[in-house]
Amino acid sequence: METTLRGVGVSHGVAIGEVRHMGTAVLEPPAKQIPAEDAEREQGRARKAVEAVAADLTARGNLAGGEAQAVLEAQAMMAQDPELLVDVDRRIAVGSTAERAVYDAFAAYRELLANAGEYLAGRVADLDDVRNRIVARLLGVPMPGVPDSDEPYVLVARDLAPADTALLDPTLVLGFVTEEGGPTSHSAILARALGVPAVVALPGASELAEGTLIAVDGSTGEVFVNPDEEKKAQLEAAAAERKAALAASTGPGATADGHKVPLLANIGGPADVAAAVEAGAEGVGLFRTEFLFLDDSKNAPSEEKQFTAYRQVLEAFPEGRVVVRVLDAGADKPLDFLTPADEPNPALGVRGLRTLLDHPEVLRTQLTALAKAAEGLPVYLEVMAPMVADRADARAFAQACREAGLRAKFGAMVEIPSAALRARSVLQEVEFLSLGTNDLAQYTFAADRQVGAVSRLQDPWQPALLDLVALSAEAAKAEGKSCGVCGEAASDPLLACVLTGLGVTSLSMGAASIPYVRASLAKATLAQCERAAAAARAADSAEDARAAAQAVLSGE
Ligand code: PEP
Ligand code: MG
Repeated sequence: METTLRGVGVSHGVAIGEVRHMGTAVLEPPAKQIPAEDAEREQGRARKAVEAVAADLTARGNLAGGEAQAVLEAQAMMAQDPELLVDVDRRIAVGSTAERAVYDAFAAYRELLANAGEYLAGRVADLDDVRNRIVARLLGVPMPGVPDSDEPYVLVARDLAPADTALLDPTLVLGFVTEEGGPTSHSAILARALGVPAVVALPGASELAEGTLIAVDGSTGEVFVNPDEEKKAQLEAAAAERKAALAASTGPGATADGHKVPLLANIGGPADVAAAVEAGAEGVGLFRTEFLFLDDSKNAPSEEKQFTAYRQVLEAFPEGRVVVRVLDAGADKPLDFLTPADEPNPALGVRGLRTLLDHPEVLRTQLTALAKAAEGLPVYLEVMAPMVADRADARAFAQACREAGLRAKFGAMVEIPSAALRARSVLQEVEFLSLGTNDLAQYTFAADRQVGAVSRLQDPWQPALLDLVALSAEAAKAEGKSCGVCGEAASDPLLACVLTGLGVTSLSMGAASIPYVRASLAKATLAQCERAAAAARAADSAEDARAAAQAVLSGE
């Protein structure tokens, strides 16, 4: 029977396919006793599971290549460690089930590793993953991590972290549904980057049975469970119509009366460049460089490795603008070797620029790599710092850029309300502002961007957030400088008009959203955008703000 669930639509389009769950951590298997005559059979089961997991890890390594391959091969060896296997056999011989014996043998080994010096202790997470895989196989539950599937599927998860998705095959994922997360969570950002439809904050998503057919409407936030043929046809036709209308809109971003609003792309690395160029991005408004740092949990990438990635991106936009954000580690993007492990509240701790000021060598390497990558290229390089709180932060960042010999514009992201409130003072040190509305919403409403239950407050239509955008844009105008938006707010076609009306000078978003925003801007004049912005700010809730702007823009 068809049922409809409702969450928050965060990436446009319709996906129809079977549910595959992101495997979760394995629960502790019960410690029950088996009769002695079952021991041999259980030992056989354990051995088969170990061999299958090792083979799977090796195969995944061959597929991934590079540094991921080395990690996966090391894990395959861990799975087959002879001493561990002897311990598993011994535990089964005295009455353990295969899954419990694996669980306990790995626990003992884990303890040894954890106490055996820094390097080996760092491998504990890899060991846990191997154990989870073997236990999952023995219990017949989904494997932890990205599902194994040769057929395209809709990925269902509690939430997705950047590290979870490093091995995701974009050709197999039709769309995302998550139980947690809000419009600015990494699930939402990743879905937009891949150009697949997504619904987040969907209550009950985790209970959808594996293999169930669902239709995900990323525009309305609806998820239809077991849709009938008529519903499928109706959704597909609507999505095709929308796509055709969008394909007709091309060229630089501008309002109906020609007020230019450059439309830029948010990217995570060179792999995202092709989609950005194809969508007609006029440059890059946010290069999230932290994705370069995810491969190695111990060290920052070398200057050379960074140089290569930056150069590839800069070369793709000759005469275009490329805004690179220096590393934003911490909070929802922790890095083992930089992020303090014991902070009670990481979102309010040492993250973003704060981390870099504590580790000046990491910032220096990054800025030097960027300076070298831009040499001789006709690109407009801009470099900005995440999590700037005040003028002193902006000054420290500008100083580091100058010392690295960077020939670029230096800017500050406005993600903390204090930076918006004192934007003119921040602008004494830097040449542009870029509003990170995801974190700005998080900090304005004290609402964790990863928690689905507070997604109402993460809504970028909240009038208080619009007030902070207006303050920043007005300050930039008064100083004769630019103020863009690179948070997810820019990817909402209606809100893009309101942001333009508030005085924002460029909009940066996942490539897949660019055609939608371009088409929406082209339908409204600047005066209409300004009226819509004023109407939205006069409202008292996100819902009323959206309705008020919609009424102005549709000429009601
Ligand atoms: C933001 O906070 O709006 C932003 C663009 O940065 P990120 O989403 O990477 O934290
Ligand atoms: Mg941010």
